[in-house]
Amino acid sequence: MNKVIITTTNQVNHRDICDYLGLVTSNLVIGTNVFSDFVASFSDFFGGMSGTYRNQLDTLYKRAIDDLSEKATLRGADAILGVKIDFDEISGKGKSMFMVSITGTAVKLSDPMDGSNRLHEKTISSRLVEIELFKQEWFGRHIDTYLPNEKDWSMIFSNNLLELAPSLYRIYVRVCQYTNGQDSSIIEKFPQFISTLSYDDAVDIMYFDYENLSTFANNLIRDNKLFCPVKVLDLLKSEKIDLAINLLAYDKFEYTHQDIVVMGQIVKWLDNLPNKGSVQQKKAGLLSSKMEDKYICQNGHTNSADIEFCGNCGLNIKGLNSSQVALINKFRYKFTVLRGLMQE
Ligand SMILES: [Zn+2]
Repeated sequence: MNKVIITTTNQVNHRDICDYLGLVTSNLVIGTNVFSDFVASFSDFFGGMSGTYRNQLDTLYKRAIDDLSEKATLRGADAILGVKIDFDEISGKGKSMFMVSITGTAVKLSDPMDGSNRLHEKTISSRLVEIELFKQEWFGRHIDTYLPNEKDWSMIFSNNLLELAPSLYRIYVRVCQYTNGQDSSIIEKFPQFISTLSYDDAVDIMYFDYENLSTFANNLIRDNKLFCPVKVLDLLKSEKIDLAINLLAYDKFEYTHQDIVVMGQIVKWLDNLPNKGSVQQKKAGLLSSKMEDKYICQNGHTNSADIEFCGNCGLNIKGLNSSQVALINKFRYKFTVLRGLMQE
């Protein structure tokens, strides 16, 4: 017989109650003949329990508990909760009977391995501990003065610690800015680290604060083919035209339908850039009274109207130089080819 848990409480530690199986009761009555010697020393009962009486009571109690367990087991119970015990003496006509009543609620319990107990099965590898300690140490230190050593790099590469990327980028920028990258492993290792990341992860890092960090990001974007149409469109919308056009030269490993849609929006946006210079009626020459059209660039230089790029500053009426226009034309052509390939 399985051991049934018997308790006066209403629950069993670390185990859930799956099913209530109802009240179980056990009543045992014992006649005077069993208590013959007890009855003989009846007065003893009030003065203090006799040894015999105590033994009889213990036996009675054990039998009642066994009876209760058996009834609960028959119902498929694992435990009896909220157990209450009552002793009663019924006496009269010179005879005495003794009754023990035990009641409790029979329940079915969850498997001991369920729930919180599963935690006891969990193991943690020493490698995981090492990584966690490394990360805590990393984020606890002052990153503005730190340079990763060989051990750091081996940790970062072998465990692909993406969460370190923003701080690594900060160190990379600092080293590029202030030491010209001399004698520092980060100049070599950071680009390697970026190349191990997925496109989405690498884009998130390399376009972070791009307006201020473009000088440091551009080569990495070019070398890792991290062209991102959405980021370019965002730059155009926030009037960062030069930064956006510069990115058009870069590539992506593969283009999705959505990329091509956004590239179409970029082309449209660039085609509709507002004029920054103007065409105005001016005197043809110093001594001439004849008027003719002149192209005035955004910097105020006057050119003849048939000149596309200002002879002085090199900007066209949209404020773009000739290499920017070439980039846009190349990009427009690339978009047309991609759109064609997508429709095949
Ligand atoms: Zn000019």
